[in-house]
Amino acid sequence: MRDIRLGRTGIHAGPTGFGALPLQRIPVADAVRLLRRALEGGIAYFDTARGYTDSERKLGLAFAGMRDRVVLATKSHARTGDAFRRDLAESLAQLGTDHIDVHQFHNPSSCPKPGDGSGLYEAMLEAREQGRVRFIGITNHRLAVAREAVESGLYDTVQFPFSYLSDEKDEALVALCAERDVGFIAMKALAGGLITRSDAAFASLGRFGNVLPIWGIQREAELDEFLAHIAAPPARTPALEEVVRRDREDLSGEFCRACGYCLPCPAGIEIPTAARMVRLLRRAPTERFVSAEGQAMMRRIAECTECGHCREHCPYGLDTPELLKRNLAAYEAFLEESRARS
Ligand code: SF4
Ligand code: SF4
Repeated sequence: MRDIRLGRTGIHAGPTGFGALPLQRIPVADAVRLLRRALEGGIAYFDTARGYTDSERKLGLAFAGMRDRVVLATKSHARTGDAFRRDLAESLAQLGTDHIDVHQFHNPSSCPKPGDGSGLYEAMLEAREQGRVRFIGITNHRLAVAREAVESGLYDTVQFPFSYLSDEKDEALVALCAERDVGFIAMKALAGGLITRSDAAFASLGRFGNVLPIWGIQREAELDEFLAHIAAPPARTPALEEVVRRDREDLSGEFCRACGYCLPCPAGIEIPTAARMVRLLRRAPTERFVSAEGQAMMRRIAECTECGHCREHCPYGLDTPELLKRNLAAYEAFLEESRARS
């Protein structure tokens, strides 16, 4: 079985990781069952965050008495040293452990460093000296911040969006991590739901020996798919390569990754869904999107006040209000065509 080494941490994370954000959406008993099945199926690396409401607690309940069998990674959004210490104490309590294996600064707008005035890195170091944190990581959606973290030598791991839609700059970050022996954790390996073939995604990331994907898993069926890929890793056959090629052609360029960092929108627009509507209509069952609720959600785009909040906060530099308008126009055209056909 593939066993990904997480850079200089020396952690052998197994064949793949589990992203625990979606656990927030399911009942405790279901989450506990899912997590234990994942562990039994060969997944040992679990990534959560203080900000994912009750996800940490569900992990703590699932793995009570089994701490030595799992690698636990979490994150803190704190922006000061004191806030970080409070978050860490809460994460430890919720996870039911006395140490976190990989603790990460959660998508900060700049790379925390000693002496930057925030006190964040100092608080992280203090936690490491106390044995409450084993390794120091950072997550980010901004390539410049992720590169700076790797180049600084201050971080053991970097978590960054990475899938077969990633471009050569992202791949260069993966190579830099390999060169500096920094662990690379891939978030959004299904590109926020735009990639619908987990076998193609799993096989493609397998090309990068130092990349640990953490698949967001919420349903038993999703877990079954990934456990099947672990048991029998999908080969990169010509047919799968063709899926990847077509997706790259179809989804290349500027697109919304559904990260949600532009929220909240003061006009109440559901940006991560609305800004991807054209692609969702092509790639997913359309009933939900063309329902009365779907239409109301999309037409809210007309309420945009051009405040600029989304554009300023998008880590991918998207002109989000323009993207939304293009999606609304294409959506109305889709509805019109559907009416004409029926
Ligand atoms: S510019 Fe429009 S879509 Fe963006 S946050 Fe402001 S109101 Fe919302
Ligand atoms: S518009 Fe940008 S910030 Fe908002 S969800 Fe999409 S990628 Fe993320």
